[in-house]
Amino acid sequence: MRILVTNDDGIHSEGLDFLIDELKKIADVTVIAPDRERSATGHSLTFFKPVRLVKIDDKNGGEMFACSGTPTDCVFIGILNHMKTRPDLVISGINRGGNMGDDITYSGTVSAAVEGLIQGVPSFAISVAEYDADVRYDYAAFFARMLAQAILENGLPENTLLNVNVPNLAPEEIKGWMITKQGHSVYGQHVEKRTDPRGVEYYWLSGDTPRGKIEEGTDFAAVKNGYVSITPLQLDLTNHDIIEELKKWHINGL
Ligand code: MN
Repeated sequence: MRILVTNDDGIHSEGLDFLIDELKKIADVTVIAPDRERSATGHSLTFFKPVRLVKIDDKNGGEMFACSGTPTDCVFIGILNHMKTRPDLVISGINRGGNMGDDITYSGTVSAAVEGLIQGVPSFAISVAEYDADVRYDYAAFFARMLAQAILENGLPENTLLNVNVPNLAPEEIKGWMITKQGHSVYGQHVEKRTDPRGVEYYWLSGDTPRGKIEEGTDFAAVKNGYVSITPLQLDLTNHDIIEELKKWHINGL
């Protein structure tokens, strides 16, 4: 089994280390991860400058490459060029901080798994739902290995990727796992306007760690209650319910 691993926290992140160590028990692992933090870069591809891969030392003797591009670039390059045989699975993570609710469109972690799906490879993203305090990756890494095996046995339906969020708890405190739906985020976003030493204004984008509405059956509710959340995602963003209503509109008399 061959697994392509990436993330958006960068190749030196702790969550990536934990994930690789577990996956090496069951697979040949190729790591292509951004050479720096690329959180919140969404599904961006680098089209207007070169992207480079630099081989770096892997303490376990595996293939590991630092990529100058985005998480999506990593998957794009890995599948379409770098890997001699297509991977059986793409795994993105383990992210520091949850990727739940509306927040997933910002997520480089989830977007890398989306790219795996677009390239026709079963894919999942995995995150630990804690950013500010000490983050423990041990159970998430173990769960990723178990889920990888389950996907290889069962396959994933076409047009489906999985978004996994793990509570920041000790393994014995995790209550189990749940299949969930995407919930809704509550943002505390802000922008600060500042002035640089040359007197030129600039902006600093910021925000509190997004919280979620705790609604039954959602990713946020599962994690809050101590369960691993597995949300099946698809690429279709269409609001199907509103199509007939919108067809009745008159737009400038057209
Ligand atoms: Mn991240």
